[in-house]
Amino acid sequence: MKVYENKSDCSGCSACFSICPVNAITMAADGEGFLYPEVDDTKCVSCNRCLSVCPIRIHHKERDNNNALPHIGILNLQNTSNYGASIAAAVLEMNVRDISGSEYVVETIDYNGKYRGNIINKVLDYVEQNNGWINCFKGAYRRLFKEDKALSSDLRNIRKERFASFNEKFLNRTIEYNDAADINSDKNNYAFIVGSDVVWHLKRVTNFRSEAYFLKFAGKDTRKISYAASVDIKSDYLNNYKSTYSDGLKNIDYISVREKDTSDYLSELTDKNISVECDPAFLFTSEQYNEMIEFSSEKPDEDYIYLYLLDRNDFLIEYAKKLSKEKGLKLYYFTPKYPAFDENSHNCLSDGPAEFLMRVKNARYILSNSFHCIVFSLIFEKKFLSFDRSKSSIKGYNLLSQFNLTERIVKSDSVIDIDKPIDFDCVRQKISEMRNDGLQFLKNSLQ
Ligand code: SF4
Ligand code: SF4
Repeated sequence: MKVYENKSDCSGCSACFSICPVNAITMAADGEGFLYPEVDDTKCVSCNRCLSVCPIRIHHKERDNNNALPHIGILNLQNTSNYGASIAAAVLEMNVRDISGSEYVVETIDYNGKYRGNIINKVLDYVEQNNGWINCFKGAYRRLFKEDKALSSDLRNIRKERFASFNEKFLNRTIEYNDAADINSDKNNYAFIVGSDVVWHLKRVTNFRSEAYFLKFAGKDTRKISYAASVDIKSDYLNNYKSTYSDGLKNIDYISVREKDTSDYLSELTDKNISVECDPAFLFTSEQYNEMIEFSSEKPDEDYIYLYLLDRNDFLIEYAKKLSKEKGLKLYYFTPKYPAFDENSHNCLSDGPAEFLMRVKNARYILSNSFHCIVFSLIFEKKFLSFDRSKSSIKGYNLLSQFNLTERIVKSDSVIDIDKPIDFDCVRQKISEMRNDGLQFLKNSLQ
């Protein structure tokens, strides 16, 4: 009689020892002092109670039952410690679960996309990911001597913990995968969805990561779907990559992208139908975000301007300070690559995704160069100004052109009055149509 096969199948909890009706089990220490059950076969009456009570056996059984159900795996950028990416991943997963019903296991794939080869190629990969050596040196200089000092290790750790607890609460994540080939494991895989966000950015499709982000690892009989995938680069920058994209698209059965410009570019490379669908963040109404907001460890206690910056933008910093003075409102800021503001401003650098949502929802004004911060400003009907991050990026302009609000993208030579009214009835109506279309695309591609 064996209660466990390998040491890794036993935690030494002694539940088996306690339940044995004939005291046939003793807990014996191994060479390192850990206790494991040993069965005296002369006493054992084969009642199997020890097996049925073992928590590790119970866990394995549940896992095996679960693995027998058809799985729908979603691959996106949830592990990049980016608020928008985490929240959108959670919203997409919940919507796919609603659509597919309880007979499917819906999970988010925790693929880390790390380079696994030798050190030289790893460095070259890092340089490619950061757009060249000059950017790498600039980044290192900033981290060592200047801007990142604003984000102390204490704040960084709190933020990391908040991301971890948010993901734990709102995502059903798989184990972490290093290699895309391992994702299509022993499970009964019904479908894989890639998206949303910049999963088809050049960084993710021009090297070994294309195996993951074009779902090349998925089996022949598994549905392969892209939901609101984004390239986020103007097509002029992509002329040399047509074969990369056309080859990748061959592998996707149902294609949807997030931006019209992405659709225009890819449509020339495939005969397949490409639809434009909204970012998953729009698949929830503002009320549906309440549960996430209630998860926030911080609560709003005053009126404020929320400044959320992902990249350096001196013009915006100066504008934010001016607006704060003019309106007599405190500035709540997340600008990790800058030295702190004066003590009258509130630092939000330790916020996790739930705190970020809470900040947007309760702010009087939003200033940001983040795509998702503007998405949530629209959902929570906030007056905002948007600032583009890079000349080649298309996502901000594409987003606001759908709402006829491109005038709110600030150019340094002309800033519109932030109090200029926004027709939020139209915004609400548009979001509702986008949501219905997005959900319909998911239903059609999954059913
Ligand atoms: S099978 Fe029953 S009698 Fe035998 S060791 Fe397990 S609990 Fe004890
Ligand atoms: S119940 Fe399972 S995990 Fe606990 S000691 Fe017995 S064999 Fe090990």
